[in-house]
Amino acid sequence: MTDYLVMCVDRASGGDPKHSHIYQAFVRPVSGGMGRLLPVKDIRREIKLGYHHFWSEDGRSKRVRVKRYKCECGFKTIRTKPDDIQDDNLSLKGPCT
Ligand SMILES: [Zn+2]
Repeated sequence: MTDYLVMCVDRASGGDPKHSHIYQAFVRPVSGGMGRLLPVKDIRREIKLGYHHFWSEDGRSKRVRVKRYKCECGFKTIRTKPDDIQDDNLSLKGPCT
């Protein structure tokens, strides 16, 4: 099992900005080493199976767990719970591409 940090996220564009959901993310092992760009589907599967843990750090190095999230619009994505940290840690990440 590896702990990964989410470095950046790419979001679906167009339509309601409220539903600009993350569809892929670049992650790298907390311990260092090569990172990789993963479809959100793969990240969700690894979280579900408990293979790997994914974390997001804010500018103050506060680290919170990345969780699976299914939006009311049906889009299956990931997020950090807004109540894990006030401004929703993962939502502040910039785009990868
Ligand atoms: Zn949505």
